[in-house]
Amino acid sequence: MISIKKKVDCCGCNACGDICPKGVITFQTDKEGFWYPKVDTDNCIDCKLCEQVCPTLNKSEIIIRYKEPLVYAAYNKNNDIRMDSTSGGIHSALSEYIFAQGGYVGGAIYNEDHTVSHITTGNPARLDEIRSSKYLQSSMAGQYKEIKKLLNSGKTVFYCAAPCQIQALYKYLKKDYDNLITSDFICRGVNSPKVFLSYIKMLEHQFESKATSIKFKYKKWGWHNFSTRVIFSNGKEYCKDRDHDMFLIGYLQYGNFARPSCYECQFKGFPQKADITLADFWGIEQLDTNMDQDKGTSLVMINSAKGLNLFNHIKNHIVWKEFTMSDAKIGNKAIDSSLKTVYDNRDLFFDAIDNKPFQEVAKEFFPIRSPWQWFIYNVKVTISNLIKKIRQ
Ligand SMILES: Cc1cc2nc3c(=O)[nH]c(=O)nc-3n(C[C@H](O)[C@H](O)[C@H](O)COP(=O)(O)OP(=O)(O)OC[C@H]3O[C@@H](n4cnc5c(N)ncnc54)[C@H](O)[C@@H]3O)c2cc1C
Ligand code: SF4
Ligand code: SF4
Ligand code: SF4
Repeated sequence: MISIKKKVDCCGCNACGDICPKGVITFQTDKEGFWYPKVDTDNCIDCKLCEQVCPTLNKSEIIIRYKEPLVYAAYNKNNDIRMDSTSGGIHSALSEYIFAQGGYVGGAIYNEDHTVSHITTGNPARLDEIRSSKYLQSSMAGQYKEIKKLLNSGKTVFYCAAPCQIQALYKYLKKDYDNLITSDFICRGVNSPKVFLSYIKMLEHQFESKATSIKFKYKKWGWHNFSTRVIFSNGKEYCKDRDHDMFLIGYLQYGNFARPSCYECQFKGFPQKADITLADFWGIEQLDTNMDQDKGTSLVMINSAKGLNLFNHIKNHIVWKEFTMSDAKIGNKAIDSSLKTVYDNRDLFFDAIDNKPFQEVAKEFFPIRSPWQWFIYNVKVTISNLIKKIRQ
């Protein structure tokens, strides 16, 4: 039976819970707000299915992928969809095509309580909810069972999730169905739902109203200088850019509240497991200014013939241009390296999250620093690391 010895070894994909024939795996949330499986050992029949499905214990070998992906920069011709998307809105173009064929689309949505879960739907009206990155972990509980049922009934399913979740999906299915097309993304890491809820609670308190719409990578000040926008039920609006929004500063500059498995991600590198990998084409302005209007440009990596076939079907609805893998790597470190945290104070940070309002925790653990202050800080860290090494 599954037993987590080190937290880095569980990416929280929920696949073990879906496969257990006795339903004896539940997910319990730790102090950091991340869920881990817990087995009711009295009722476990030791069938080991949970171990076999686990993507961190075993890799899926059944899927065939190009050794090197085909690389494109692309964006949706529909300006509203492009502006509402995280990158260039390619995910929406792919999803619209699938819906038009009577297929199903799977992706992450915000729940009423601001947590995030995956859904699979045949209703095109739900694309607005699925669109856009949610920078906290999404629960996949129940999704593996549902996808398999849809696939076995002959429905086409286009499913987008983090690389670890897609790997888990193939482990669960044990084969690559012709009617399944998957997409993942270059993944910086997923953040603690507990930290995100503390941040939203702070905003709801400040605006004296419930948050009704949350958008990361809002493009009011452009895609390069993306921001976070939250709308409240009293009609008020919060909007701050990546250098001033405290949640984005914590995630992008300090990196101290992502899931432990994300700091040693086992799902980087090629061949990627999904048919299509989406990302931001950071650095596109250095390669081709015509492909960058500061409205979002997607990096599209096609990893299989099935992925290429789907991409060919949307080409009339997007602007696209072919590039190379080394072009893609210019601005996107997360392609092959895991997230790093700035300092080693995780326990203190999570103690503070339990006891103080988010704004106080942010001030203490991730203060706003100018590029110059960051330079000084990095020099100090390098010198102190050197001294430590010399003393050892
Ligand atoms: C947690 C996270 C980290 C990322 N890190 C990077 C990065 O370091 N570099 C980079 O270039 N791109 C990163 N991306 C991908 C990028 O933000 C865009 O999602 C991607 O470029 C697709 O953009 P789009 O405009 O085509 O579509 P979008 O409309 O943005 O597509 C979003 C798709 O992602 C799914 N999704 C959203 N949130 C989650 C979640 N929490 N878990 C699982 N699936 C989710 C949605 O369901 C939808 O299917 C990350 C995305 C996420 C969710
Ligand atoms: S060994 Fe089998 S019964 Fe026991 S928890 Fe794992 S899947 Fe469930
Ligand atoms: S990685 Fe997924 S399958 Fe493995 S133990 Fe964690 S939740 Fe279960
Ligand atoms: S960084 Fe790796 S482990 Fe973390 S969510 Fe992304 S794919 Fe999964």
